[in-house]
Amino acid sequence: MGDCTESMLIETAKIYCPYCGENIEIIVDGSIEQQNYTEDCSVCCRPMELSISVTGEEISITARRDDE
Ligand SMILES: [Zn+2]
Repeated sequence: MGDCTESMLIETAKIYCPYCGENIEIIVDGSIEQQNYTEDCSVCCRPMELSISVTGEEISITARRDDE
């Protein structure tokens, strides 16, 4: 009936902001193996470049400054 039965693998992960050093929580789609995107820090609002790789149940995240 056209229902969307795809299960979303939404995970939360903690990272340290490369600007202000605050520990912040981000939402990661665990069904995508490799992702790169920019997200604003929820504390200092500066853009972090996130590089996320998902291997099985392990998620590794690198947060870089966008101004280097
Ligand atoms: Zn920050």
